[in-house]
Amino acid sequence: MTAGRPTAGARPITSRRRLTVPAGVVSVMVVADTLVINEIFRSIQGESSYAGLPCVLVRLTACNLRCVWCDTARAFYEGAPMSVADVIVKVLEFDCPLVEITGGEPLLQPNVIPLMSRLCDLGKRVLLETSGSVDVSGVDPRVVKIMDLKCPGSGESDRNRYDNLRWLDKKDEIKFVIADRTDYEWARTQLATRGLNTIATVLFSPVWEKLPLQTLADWVLADNLPVRLQSQWHKLIGCR
Ligand code: SF4
Repeated sequence: MTAGRPTAGARPITSRRRLTVPAGVVSVMVVADTLVINEIFRSIQGESSYAGLPCVLVRLTACNLRCVWCDTARAFYEGAPMSVADVIVKVLEFDCPLVEITGGEPLLQPNVIPLMSRLCDLGKRVLLETSGSVDVSGVDPRVVKIMDLKCPGSGESDRNRYDNLRWLDKKDEIKFVIADRTDYEWARTQLATRGLNTIATVLFSPVWEKLPLQTLADWVLADNLPVRLQSQWHKLIGCR
């Protein structure tokens, strides 16, 4: 459902404020028109329907979750402030049509909203990777949201914000990262009871080096699920 979406990027960033991440994990100083950036680099998009394409990744610092299999813990605390304008300049240097905003949890920093809108204005295809634990309603509708629903094996499934589902549409993607059979059956139940494949593309991805891709493929085929099997292309080819 898309009716009644607020105008993306409408929230002005006019003051200095402190962003407090829940659970006492970390606190990030947010300054007008500034983001705390962990890294900006070009790689191969790894975990969506865009997998395999060259992509500029903008990784924002801080996360409010602690998934047990997280592979980007370096983004919890490490980072440096950059203005939104400087982030855009850096992204444009790569001359790449695809840009992914990731983390950490990018939506913890309000200035990411105007950053994504400006990148869209510049003609970039913008992907947002988000954990699903933070409100996505203010995201520019042009942005492709790749939103996790955290399975029990992550240790963070009680943080899923199911209200976010009403802000997704067919261009968006819902991702389950699956560690074992318990996670798989939970994801299968969510798929069926919430009609997820009628909302967006649904991705099933195994936890790297924990659940074999072949095993997950066998389960998906046995149940004839309307989902897209994913791996992590960037790891298969040795990129970040
Ligand atoms: S949401 Fe992402 S960055 Fe945060 S702990 Fe989970 S896997 Fe790591």
